[in-house]
Amino acid sequence: MRILLTNDDGIYAPGLSAALQTLSRLGEVYVVAPERPRSAAGHAITLHKPLRLTPVTLSNGMEGYACNGTPADCVTLGYEALMHQRCDLVVAGINAGANLGWDVLYSGTVAGAREGAILGRPSLAISLCLPENLPAAKASFALAADFTARLAEQLVKLPLPSHVLLNVNIPYLHSSNAPPVQITRQGRREYVNRIAVREDPNGKPYYWLGGSVREEEPEPGTDVHAIHQGHISITPIQLDMTAYPLLDKLATWLPKEILANTNT
Ligand code: MN
Repeated sequence: MRILLTNDDGIYAPGLSAALQTLSRLGEVYVVAPERPRSAAGHAITLHKPLRLTPVTLSNGMEGYACNGTPADCVTLGYEALMHQRCDLVVAGINAGANLGWDVLYSGTVAGAREGAILGRPSLAISLCLPENLPAAKASFALAADFTARLAEQLVKLPLPSHVLLNVNIPYLHSSNAPPVQITRQGRREYVNRIAVREDPNGKPYYWLGGSVREEEPEPGTDVHAIHQGHISITPIQLDMTAYPLLDKLATWLPKEILANTNT
């Protein structure tokens, strides 16, 4: 099996090394990851400057390529320039932190897997839901990495349609008890206090984006709920973002002059 591995936490992130370690059991793994952390880069791609792949030795002594682009760039370059389109699976992760609900719109991890889906390859985004006070360097990715490899091995045997990806979130558990797996839909995850305002030394305001998750009871069946329950969440995600229930409604809601585009 030929696997392309990327992430958005950067080439030296512990979650990437952990995934590489276990995925290597399945076959040949090509690692292409951003040279610096690119979390929340979304699905940005780099069009206006040269992109480079620099061979590097990862924290676990294995080899990979650092790329000066985004996670989506990494997947495109790895797939085309290194693997020459011979790729059985794309894996993005293991991300240090959850990618639940609307996070998937900002996540570079999910975007890496989504680029794999655009290329028509089976694709996985894997995130480990770390507690807020636990830095990635101190976390153990071993159980998540083991699950990643076991899922990857099965995924390539499934009759998955093209252009979908699986968004996988794994709870951070201290015991070695294997958490149950739940197939979920995308939930909601809203943030509050998203902007902090401070004053610079010249007395001018500057702004810091961030915020904290709005605490509310998550809906059963969602990725957010599954993680709340301590379960592994697997959400199938598609590229088609059409709001299907609105297709018919919009045609009845909009006035005739808009639909006919006549100026009355
Ligand atoms: Mn990240």
